[in-house]
Amino acid sequence: PVVTRFAPSPTGALHIGSARTALFNWLYARANGGTFLLRIEDTDKARSSDENTQAILDGLTWLGLEWDGAPISQAANADRHADVAHQMLADGTAYKCFSTQDEIEAFREDARANKTSTLFRSPWRDVAEADQPDLPFVVRVKAPRDGSTTLTDRVQGDVTWQNDQLDDMILLRSDGTPVYMLAVVVDDHDMGVTHVVRGDDHLANAFRQNMIYDAMGWDKPILAHIPLIFGPDGKKLSKRHGATGAAEYQAMGYPAAGMRNYLTRLGWSHGDDEFFTDAQALEWFDLDGIGKSPARFDTKKLENICGQHIAITDDAALRHEIAAFLTATGAPALTSHQSDGLLAAMPSLKERSKTFPELLEKAYFVLTSRPITPDEKSVKMLDDVHKSILSELTPQLQTVSWSREDLEGIVGALATAHDTKLGKLAGPLRAALAGRSVSPSVFDMMLVLGRDETIARINDAAA
Ligand code: GLU
Repeated sequence: PVVTRFAPSPTGALHIGSARTALFNWLYARANGGTFLLRIEDTDKARSSDENTQAILDGLTWLGLEWDGAPISQAANADRHADVAHQMLADGTAYKCFSTQDEIEAFREDARANKTSTLFRSPWRDVAEADQPDLPFVVRVKAPRDGSTTLTDRVQGDVTWQNDQLDDMILLRSDGTPVYMLAVVVDDHDMGVTHVVRGDDHLANAFRQNMIYDAMGWDKPILAHIPLIFGPDGKKLSKRHGATGAAEYQAMGYPAAGMRNYLTRLGWSHGDDEFFTDAQALEWFDLDGIGKSPARFDTKKLENICGQHIAITDDAALRHEIAAFLTATGAPALTSHQSDGLLAAMPSLKERSKTFPELLEKAYFVLTSRPITPDEKSVKMLDDVHKSILSELTPQLQTVSWSREDLEGIVGALATAHDTKLGKLAGPLRAALAGRSVSPSVFDMMLVLGRDETIARINDAAA
């Protein structure tokens, strides 16, 4: 069974690049009936915080990337990590190194002078039963020195390192605490991780981690190191390019489904498909579809995809998401009247809305209530001529059947009677009904508002 994991360090909020790493792990696990675990790599106490951890959990929750079981704290496993180092010591795959900082520095200076490798070669590596009871030591792995190591990566292909480039890395510091590189391997092993999918900035680490797998004789996970995300200028995505945090996209009102779709496409492809549902992503996702070159973040594409997702989302579900979005932005909760209006208007609102704020702008006519305060443009639309034309409409609206066809009929007839076009009346009518120039069509609005409210708004405006 497939077991993947997302292993963020809580040194900041959830970055878009990390969100995509989490998404790929989630997709791969879900697509294969596997398990998706979350491990918080909180061993660097100085740089980690509970707030950051919470922000990461919130980001994943917003994106719908639910993990299995409770999040695992790496720091909590420190004793187990140290035990493995001691096991390696007992097995002879690691050794105690008593070299002092000064000795290591002297070694490096010599190496620089002789133009040989500055990778430290400890004199303790081959000392049998080395022990100096009262002196501090670190535990180092016995790295292979000859030949080369080839790792097969599902994205990068076969990657080879010369073993003389590997140093006897430290596993336990002189205070007995385990290093990060050891923690990752032990945790991945203990968690039963079968696939390690992460940024290719960790590719070099894979060779160091590989030594621990070899030493312990553990099964190795399948590796997939995915290229980083670039900005439009081809440089690593950063603040310079605009928003980089998942929470910022949430705050801008992008729907989570659109974000999932876009982030999935960012670095992974299935033919030319740009827009797809979760169900399709789960059917299609595989590691082979991950590209080898960095993807470029493209806000236009993101918006386009988000617009399509808003359009296909079920009305009630969309209302729910929008209410959650409003709450998250600190806006007052919708009244039940507003909520009903939003749902009734949803079919006309969800067309061509790329974000929730865009949709809400068009929804103003159901969120406001009489007396409507028209904006400047709407005030201009409602000049005396048009006020008088609109006032002719209300007697007819009293009796007409409340269907789109009949409403179009009477407004059209009114336009003809005044020698003008329907389009010329739509502006003032929109101003009366919404007080805004951005709204659904006037007929959509009338149908949602109903007879009494429509007439009342026109009367208010014509007065
Ligand atoms: N904690 C690492 C990071 O946030 C990930 C390590 C890993 O996936 O192995 O970049």
